[in-house]
Amino acid sequence: MRIGVLALQGAFREHRLMLEGCGVEVTEVRKAVDVDGVDGLVIPGGESTTIGKMLVDWGLMDKIKSRATEGMAIYGTCAGMILLAKEIVGSQQPRLGLLDVSVRRNAFGRQRESFEADLYVPEFGEQPLRAVFIRAPYIESAGAAVKVLAAVDGHIVIARQGKILVTAFHPELTQDDRIHRYFIDMVKDSA
Ligand code: GLN
Repeated sequence: MRIGVLALQGAFREHRLMLEGCGVEVTEVRKAVDVDGVDGLVIPGGESTTIGKMLVDWGLMDKIKSRATEGMAIYGTCAGMILLAKEIVGSQQPRLGLLDVSVRRNAFGRQRESFEADLYVPEFGEQPLRAVFIRAPYIESAGAAVKVLAAVDGHIVIARQGKILVTAFHPELTQDDRIHRYFIDMVKDSA
């Protein structure tokens, strides 16, 4: 199994290291042809307008959408979550639009630009997940096909719809690889 990490901008090295630590082969994805060789794709945090523009410029937008339609699993963190959303509040920026949610960027406000929180998520066991939020978005509303896995102050921060998984925070910046392992299982199931 080989998982691609979109490596245009942002925190892609940390995802690579975490996936390799889980025993998975990783390809850094920069061109459309790179997407053909992977069984699943991680879209990292960073700046969603910049990454979205590069996805269009490099022909990756259509390529990723068509692989997703064929069943490729995708995991988006933070900016990656924004890029996967159908709706981005107040923005027409380019996006994949594969997840039936409305996302608000930089949603936690100025005082809480960066913060950490313990999330209790039954899917990931009894130990809380330490979640690192950096100018994080949250999901404001989600369609019926979307499963909500965790929320902070009533705002959705982990969600899944079929083969698409998103977190508003950055597990790749911690030592806790449970979300990556969960995603690897999603990729295995679709292989
Ligand atoms: N605020 C960024 C955006 O809107 C996302 C921040 C992140 O990925 N850590 O694109």
